Amino acid sequence: MQIDMSYGSGGKQTSDLIQEVFLDAFHNKILDRMEDAAVLEVKGKIAYTTDSFVVTPMFFPGGDIGKLAVCGTVNDLSVMGAVPKYLTAGFILEEGVSLETLKRVTASMAKAAKEAKVQIVAGDTKVVEGRGGIYINTSGIGEVIKSGISISNCRAGDLVLLSGNLGEHHAAILSSRMGIENSIHSDCAPLNSMVLKLLEEEIDIHCMRDVTRGGLATVLNEAAEKSGCRIQLTEEALPVSKEVKGFCDILGLDPLYMANEGKLLAVIPEKQAERALNIMKASRYGKNAAVIGRVTEGLSEKQTRGVVMTTALKGTRRIDVLYGEGLPRIC
Ligand code: MG
Repeated sequence: MQIDMSYGSGGKQTSDLIQEVFLDAFHNKILDRMEDAAVLEVKGKIAYTTDSFVVTPMFFPGGDIGKLAVCGTVNDLSVMGAVPKYLTAGFILEEGVSLETLKRVTASMAKAAKEAKVQIVAGDTKVVEGRGGIYINTSGIGEVIKSGISISNCRAGDLVLLSGNLGEHHAAILSSRMGIENSIHSDCAPLNSMVLKLLEEEIDIHCMRDVTRGGLATVLNEAAEKSGCRIQLTEEALPVSKEVKGFCDILGLDPLYMANEGKLLAVIPEKQAERALNIMKASRYGKNAAVIGRVTEGLSEKQTRGVVMTTALKGTRRIDVLYGEGLPRIC
């Protein structure tokens, strides 16, 4: 069965769709009340974020648009020192999408939400003309348990930790689009349990970001600029799988600029870095975590800011932000 414009009418078919698909997949005490707004119990300071997902193809090795929509918002909350609690989900459905496809996506969202221990408490659906696409917006609320984590808070002497291999989401999407068969899977994953463990163990995280569009290079440049510092990377320390490296070599891609959907960067005082690394490595999505560099100076003169990498051949390479459009519709 396919979704047609009548499912967006607000009438009987809309309510059937809500019952049969969304309530069935997401049901929880708050959503099941079906009020005009969810009423939430939240303690203290909250983090609040939103993101829209338009990835193509909708299903790819390692994930799909639904898993991505949950993990993306969960990760944005987590890296701000928050415990993700509640999500909303807005769906724009193009006419022609099958009910079966939609159910696959909502089941995947429900599974990811369960793993991340978040509840989807409100939602909306619109149907538009088109060719069977699904677009999802998720917003999320989390309870802040550590304040002060900020892109502006890198300090000289800190070490830069990355939670795992670079480029897997980007390479998986690109492989799907190009019809290349390989064993690369997207790294799409919720990172909240790793972050929670770091915070419970009282790691004093100065700066943390999930490394998504624009890749590691773009995130690091933003951190260097906002913090007024220089970040020195070591090329040999960058974790990249053999498969992704091979893929990049063939297509002339640089893992530093490739998107990830289950990796985070954490800037941590040197004396806590080893403990933090071990916590990451012991967590489900962090076994390839590595210390990849160091914040070397906090001087404000322009020439000392930015990101510099010591290459495998002991040369020095300046790492700039991503220019141009990169790969569109990756998330
Ligand atoms: Mg982010």
